Amino acid sequence: MEKTLRLLVIDDDDVDRMALRRSLQRSGLQFELHESNTPDAGVQLLVSELFDCAFLDYRFPTCDGLSLVSQLRESGVQTPLIVLTGQGSEETAVNLMKAGASDYLSKANLSGETLVRAIHSAIRVHRAECEAILANQKLRETNELLKQQNHELEHQREQIQQQNLQLTEVSRLKSEFLATMSHELRTPLNAIIGFSQILMRQLKNSGSDRQNDMLSRIFTNGQHLLDLINEILDLSKIESGRLDLRSESLNLEELIVTTVKSLQSLSEQKHLDLKIEIELQNPIIVNDCNRLRQILVNLLSNAIKFTDAGYVRVTAHDVTGDIIEIAVEDTGIGIEPQHIAHIFDAFHQVDQSVARSHQGTGLGLAITNLLLEMMKGKISVDSQIGQGSCFRLQIPRQI
Ligand code: ADP
Repeated sequence: MEKTLRLLVIDDDDVDRMALRRSLQRSGLQFELHESNTPDAGVQLLVSELFDCAFLDYRFPTCDGLSLVSQLRESGVQTPLIVLTGQGSEETAVNLMKAGASDYLSKANLSGETLVRAIHSAIRVHRAECEAILANQKLRETNELLKQQNHELEHQREQIQQQNLQLTEVSRLKSEFLATMSHELRTPLNAIIGFSQILMRQLKNSGSDRQNDMLSRIFTNGQHLLDLINEILDLSKIESGRLDLRSESLNLEELIVTTVKSLQSLSEQKHLDLKIEIELQNPIIVNDCNRLRQILVNLLSNAIKFTDAGYVRVTAHDVTGDIIEIAVEDTGIGIEPQHIAHIFDAFHQVDQSVARSHQGTGLGLAITNLLLEMMKGKISVDSQIGQGSCFRLQIPRQI
């Protein structure tokens, strides 16, 4: 069923009001018409009550329709307003619409049909306007919310940046502390190692077996501790950016051969075959000799340490004119796939147990990786449990 419309007419002319009422009755609309014969009473009604549509006369003794429409809109009345005139010009119509009128009808042709069309169109436009206002308001609210969230994100970003700065500073202090401590520890440790060596030499023939055994333990444990301290020192130096590479021209083939030879005794103790295969166009490269040797020693001693039978092989060949690949391959215990991603992390060891059978610090590969980064090189590993591992490193001919 159609809704009964609440309509209001503000007109000081009784006859005009009656004419409107009659036309409305003839239109077939369901309505309830309220009447007001002065502008003031009409304004009061519109301010205090809700109407679906209001008709305003254009001419009152005290004011005209234009100022009445303006007054109503200024006081917040949103009801659709249709202005009824005797005879009006187009200019009047434009001004009325600008002031906020919904429509404009001439009293001369107030047929039921014209009224229905005008009322329905004014109500439709009014609804659309209300919806647009609501949508606009929601948009503003969402905008406001987004602005707020943006503000919070910005705040969080600043906090993270601040925390990052603090972390960098803490990390720098940690590296500095480690570097200082390692340095301080090395001096007394070198004395212990040196004096134990002198004593070993002096007591070689005169000392008891027990004395010699104790001295040899002091020496090897001291040496092990020194290795550990040196590795920590290296790591902290690299991390704090205080380690510089000293590039020099060197013979890579010679470096590989002498490094392998220095570890020969270790592989012989385990009856491992230690092989070298070098196929380089030119063995002369530019790199930091000591750091490259350190990398080779790390990889080779790991290969020997984690291999109980078979061989350890070092190969070197050209990948391109500028890149050389060195591989250290073993037939040892291998590394499980889930550990491979972490073996280059500092202090990561596959076997973390106290009772592990292989000694080590878990720093060798971390240092190797960082040194290679500094050399603009890279390292990768292939490994199969029980079959062996192959560490491949690629370095530029010239760093
Ligand atoms: P570590 O001092 O323990 O040798 P590294 O950083 O050199 O420390 O190596 C980290 C870990 O990676 C080792 O503890 C070992 O578990 C694994 N690993 C490294 N090289 C090999 C290898 N050739 N064969 C098997 N496991 C290896």
